[in-house]
Amino acid sequence: LGLVSARVQPGDNDAEAGVRPKTLDELIGQMRVREQLELLLAGATGRGTPPDHILLSGPPGLGKTTMAMIVAAELGVALRTTSGPAIERSGDLAAVLTSLGHGDVLFIDEIHRMARPAEELLYTAMEDFRVDVMVGKGPGATAIPLDLEPFTLVGATTRSGLLTGPLRDRFGFVGQLDFYGTGELEAIVTRSARILDVPVEPDGAVEIAGRSRGTPRIANRLLRRVRDFAQVRADGVITLDVAKSALAVYDVDELGLDRLDRAVLSALVESFGGGPVGLNTLAVAVGEQPDTVEEVCEPFLVRAGLLARTPRGRVATALGWRHLGKNPPTGLFG
Ligand code: ATP
Repeated sequence: LGLVSARVQPGDNDAEAGVRPKTLDELIGQMRVREQLELLLAGATGRGTPPDHILLSGPPGLGKTTMAMIVAAELGVALRTTSGPAIERSGDLAAVLTSLGHGDVLFIDEIHRMARPAEELLYTAMEDFRVDVMVGKGPGATAIPLDLEPFTLVGATTRSGLLTGPLRDRFGFVGQLDFYGTGELEAIVTRSARILDVPVEPDGAVEIAGRSRGTPRIANRLLRRVRDFAQVRADGVITLDVAKSALAVYDVDELGLDRLDRAVLSALVESFGGGPVGLNTLAVAVGEQPDTVEEVCEPFLVRAGLLARTPRGRVATALGWRHLGKNPPTGLFG
């Protein structure tokens, strides 16, 4: 996994424990979702009831887990955490649900990946705070209803469209998280540096922010690598030059592309004249699996406006050509 992957990597969680915001006020960016959550929590607290179930959707590393923790902390209740893939049988889920205390928050990450029988158990749990536990097998099987304490489910998913209709309908609130702007990421880097006790100059923070692909998890990870460089090869301060030299060592370019992303873009431009070229051909050219190219590299190349997917294949945009320091062929826009 590359340094600029948005997925969790070993060490991230421990390293981030200290810099993870603990209250809504400490959250940077996501103004809209933050305001909506504030209202939801304050309304429920005023009524003395647990808030509606909350679905958070958005790409990895934007703060869904952080927000679930904040919801529990702001309500002053316990948080239980699990994930869709970890719930293999409905019994696993029933055990978690029956252990919840009054008003607790249950966080289910990757909720769209839960097994179907468990999902169905969740419907009545969410709606009526009840589960029907099946006892016995075959014709003699009976459902024993068990009452649950009222709780709030916080579900996280990369796209709300991945959820089945019945599950999605049971959430009272859906918060859509977006990629962060450079200014917000700069604020996140500056805040994390303060907590980690690393001196960072403003243009050093901007440089790290600009290479973080709109993702706080990546910003914090790059900060940790630049900190090493500052400490070992400089006087400990993260200046613009230190940030640039450090990220050059790690092959993260000005836009946040890593070596593989750039390999894909340059193969497209240099070996195939900018395309269109099929995914498989492109993958062979860079010695990778088509899945890796499609799922790991392309989403960001597309989002950064460097590559486009067309019905005839992948093409480099004018911006893509220029990013490699080349003039796009005449007539190419974008
Ligand atoms: P995944 O779904 O992949 O687990 P996630 O969306 O749950 O990702 P988090 O683990 O919540 O992501 O966030 C990653 C890290 O980014 C956190 O540890 C935190 O330090 C930082 N972070 C996220 N959102 C913010 C924010 N709004 N302000 C400051 N830091 C943030």
